[in-house]
Amino acid sequence: MSLACSVPRSCSRCGSTGNEFPRHRLVKGDGLSSWCKPCWRSYRQQLWTSRPETKQANYERLRRWNKDHPAALRARSKAWACRNLPKVLAKNGKRRAAKIGATPLWANVSAINEIYELAALRTRLSGVKHVVDHDVPLIHENVCGLHCEFNLRVITDAENSSKGNRFTVQ
Ligand SMILES: [Zn+2]
Repeated sequence: MSLACSVPRSCSRCGSTGNEFPRHRLVKGDGLSSWCKPCWRSYRQQLWTSRPETKQANYERLRRWNKDHPAALRARSKAWACRNLPKVLAKNGKRRAAKIGATPLWANVSAINEIYELAALRTRLSGVKHVVDHDVPLIHENVCGLHCEFNLRVITDAENSSKGNRFTVQ
């Protein structure tokens, strides 16, 4: 046990003690940087804004690399999509609805996103694939459903497939 543990660590840049310290691979001992997180953030931001050409060069290098490694890029996108499935599905639903102008101005985007998150959660908890369904279909010969929180519900994928695009007009 070293004594340093009981003494609050203070940032060598701003002197504050309350902040978190990031890990730094070059630091010996406890491996923590002597600068606090907010200091690193402002330092990096400063670098970015003071050297726009570096930003541009990095961006172009990244773009070139992505172009030369399409498989790696696809894998990375896929991994991201797997981690953020509700976001992806919400975006797909939004795009589909936007295409036919079915999202009303008053639709509550965060409520809609929550419904997609609920579907992902139920899938994870039950092991049965759940999807978000438009109760009134978006595209149908007699009706036109809206992409909004009141027309969305979470059902199993099996229910969804058996439902198809059937809708009874009452
Ligand atoms: Zn600091």
